[in-house]
Amino acid sequence: MGRQLIYPMEERYQEYLSDESKMVGKADSISFPENEGEILEIIAEMNACHTPVTIQGGKTGIAGCAVPARGHVLNLSHMNQVKAFNKTAQGEALLKVEPGMTLLELKKAIKKLKTEEELFWPPDPTESSSTVGGIASCGAKGICSRLYGDTRKYIQAARVIQWDGSVKEIKRGETTVSFLGREKDLLDVYLGGEGMFGILAELTLRLEPRPKEMWGISFFFEKKEDAFTFADNLMTEDLQVEGASIAAAEYMDRATIDAIEERKEMMTALKELPDVGAEVAAMIYIEIHGMEEEAVEEIAEILMELAVRCDSDPDRAWAVSGETEIEKMRVFRHAAAESANLLIEKIRQREPRITKLGTDMSLDKEDFQSVIAKYEADIAQEGLKACIFGHIGGNHLHINILPEDYEEYEKGCKLFEAWAKEIAAQQGKVVTEHGVGKLKKPLFLQTASKDCIEEIQRLKHTYDPAGMWNPENMI
Ligand SMILES: Cc1cc2nc3c(=O)[nH]c(=O)nc-3n(C[C@H](O)[C@H](O)[C@H](O)COP(=O)(O)OP(=O)(O)OC[C@H]3O[C@@H](n4cnc5c(N)ncnc54)[C@H](O)[C@@H]3O)c2cc1C
Repeated sequence: MGRQLIYPMEERYQEYLSDESKMVGKADSISFPENEGEILEIIAEMNACHTPVTIQGGKTGIAGCAVPARGHVLNLSHMNQVKAFNKTAQGEALLKVEPGMTLLELKKAIKKLKTEEELFWPPDPTESSSTVGGIASCGAKGICSRLYGDTRKYIQAARVIQWDGSVKEIKRGETTVSFLGREKDLLDVYLGGEGMFGILAELTLRLEPRPKEMWGISFFFEKKEDAFTFADNLMTEDLQVEGASIAAAEYMDRATIDAIEERKEMMTALKELPDVGAEVAAMIYIEIHGMEEEAVEEIAEILMELAVRCDSDPDRAWAVSGETEIEKMRVFRHAAAESANLLIEKIRQREPRITKLGTDMSLDKEDFQSVIAKYEADIAQEGLKACIFGHIGGNHLHINILPEDYEEYEKGCKLFEAWAKEIAAQQGKVVTEHGVGKLKKPLFLQTASKDCIEEIQRLKHTYDPAGMWNPENMI
């Protein structure tokens, strides 16, 4: 007789009813399969009693994608092994992994590979406990997507478990399906599909040579308007240097810096960084990647000159190089998102109806200055508090509203609705990297085109006719 696979949803599993969106769901049972065979056994049982399944990775999502609405929770965090590594005749480095492998485990596994050159997996949504399956399913990107682009580019194949328990191998470029009048790679239906079409039971990741040179520079501004000008110049300045590129450009406002600094004493990695002076109104973190030191240096010099023109003292900038030092800078940037989530958690202790209120909208038509000034004016007009950080490219800002009570929370929700409508009307993206899930579903349904919603429903009906996967997500 095999081991017990399915457990009733008892008190000790409460944490699996929630994710970083702070939504809380419901479920009757939970399982933690350790291999594909066990997933198939569980799915057969769920199919027999028509019980829908919510697929979970690391539960770090911030749109409630992995929060169960009912039925069974299939948590894949125990499937975290490397299955194979090979180099193709064309020189592509392919790593086959189980879906529950976390970003941290993946980084360690890649370091252990015996290869001539150092390799890495470019998608890095910074949260080290997020899993490869969750990243693939949400299309999560992270700060270096400015240079490396979409996560899909770095997933070559997947083994998918379908609603009826059959298993399908899907390779990039092999099959297409029609979507909104265009041909879409079948693999991409599942990548970014938020677990609505099937279980990614194994993923083949495409690794890239790690840049030999990585530099990180944090610039500080006493007037936030100077930071806005710096950001806009980053988009227009000639930063084309052969052999190096800007990989990340991240904005953080004073409220974000304060929230991070408050937690400094508790975080070893942050403690080693100097304090940000009280006169600082905003900061911008830039990461430069390249294979040649001279090229990276050339970009750094252009940035230093730009900083001087924008009234930021280059002598006060934090400039570091190499993986270990860069990691500290990334911890600081990551702490922006963590601190916002912790502040919401604190507020929730008083008012449990409050969930995370963070935008994931992007609009590249306008300049940075106009986009952020509009957000700030609206927040001030409603008398709300917020911390603002995010990616300068595409004006992809995460505005985190910090409500004092439920009334302010409702005001924040209304603001989100208004912004979403405006962004959609200007052909921007209402949801860019965090997924729609359950939290952003009302915004998505209000702003996505009728054709787009119908096409997603058609795909859902084709690939999940029994309504087995992730009930209540997205549509
Ligand atoms: C502090 C913090 C910072 C963050 N920063 C970023 C950032 O910079 N950029 C960014 O993009 N995101 C960021 N995120 C969001 C989050 O890390 C990502 O959305 C991540 O992709 C979620 O991975 P997960 O394993 O936790 O997935 P979960 O939250 O468990 O699940 C997410 C979705 O994926 C589905 N899923 C999971 N595994 C599978 C599978 N094997 N097969 C099918 N479906 C599956 C689930 O059903 C669900 O719909 C951040 C989160 C936190 C908490």
